[in-house]
Amino acid sequence: MSDITVIGSNMIDMMTYLERMPVEGETVSAPEFELGYGGKGANQAVAASKLGSKVTLITMVGHDNFGKEQLENFQNVGIDTRCIGVGNQNSGVAPIFVDPSSDNRIIVVKGANNELTPQILDDFEEQIKNSKLIVLQQEIPLETNYHAIDLAVKHNVPVLLNPAPANDDLDIEHVSKVDFFAPNETELSTLTGMPTSNLEEIKQAAHVLIDRGVGNIIVTIGSKGALWVDKDHEEVIPGKHVEAVDTTGAGDSFIGSFSHYYTEGEDVAEALRHANQYAAVTVTRKGTQKSYPTAKELEQTLN
Ligand code: ATP
Repeated sequence: MSDITVIGSNMIDMMTYLERMPVEGETVSAPEFELGYGGKGANQAVAASKLGSKVTLITMVGHDNFGKEQLENFQNVGIDTRCIGVGNQNSGVAPIFVDPSSDNRIIVVKGANNELTPQILDDFEEQIKNSKLIVLQQEIPLETNYHAIDLAVKHNVPVLLNPAPANDDLDIEHVSKVDFFAPNETELSTLTGMPTSNLEEIKQAAHVLIDRGVGNIIVTIGSKGALWVDKDHEEVIPGKHVEAVDTTGAGDSFIGSFSHYYTEGEDVAEALRHANQYAAVTVTRKGTQKSYPTAKELEQTLN
């Protein structure tokens, strides 16, 4: 049995690097195109697995070649793939367009990720029950996340919910049952309906959720690091100063690495410090999953 169970999405990122964005009706040719493994669930599982955690991923790949490649990629990084299903539709894909100023346009086609239904989780209740942490994001049906939270609560297993991408329909009743709620500023504002444009406002919004019963709020604040709030205290865990070249997937590397360090037995503050360090290394490298170092690579980078 794995220590960490990630229940979430997998996508193929289709990165097109443009000289400029086309206007409506226009065709432009682009100098560079790349395929990459992505999807928030997969990214977080890969980060934790590369650091050495035993990770099970519950996800649905498509019935196409991308689905087969995803499975191979998960096996290559050591993820337990026994709970991965093959759907009736194509794999989830994310066409991403990036111009030279890093301005981007992203389209997410969830595909087989929509087939990860609440009923599927019932087949994996034993796995959920024996985990140290359940990790969720929002690229699968909300009802599946709610069912995952209910199963975890039934078995006393802590849940980390990363509410990305933001979804107006997220129900605060379910959020109030999680041990770790880990949004960025925008996602926190979407759930609470409160402004989060500075640290004071972020703290106020976080406390509203603490008062509703959430155990810990971890707000990622880019290069500034992360704000941690629980019922007794609030603390900014500062980010590491680095020369960032590509911040794509930084949030996922942060969540995946935090999950690793926390389930290894570190206390929350220590796990957050290490997650900031891990995420900072990933922003100095291009790409999403391929920018995530293994434990050994991380050690070499830090020495
Ligand atoms: P994304 O959706 O692009 O992955 P996010 O908004 O979920 O991003 P951020 O708050 O931008 O997440 O970043 C997550 C974590 O990554 C931060 O808490 C920090 O640890 C690290 N990080 C991000 N940008 C930088 C940076 N420029 N320098 C150092 N660390 C960074």
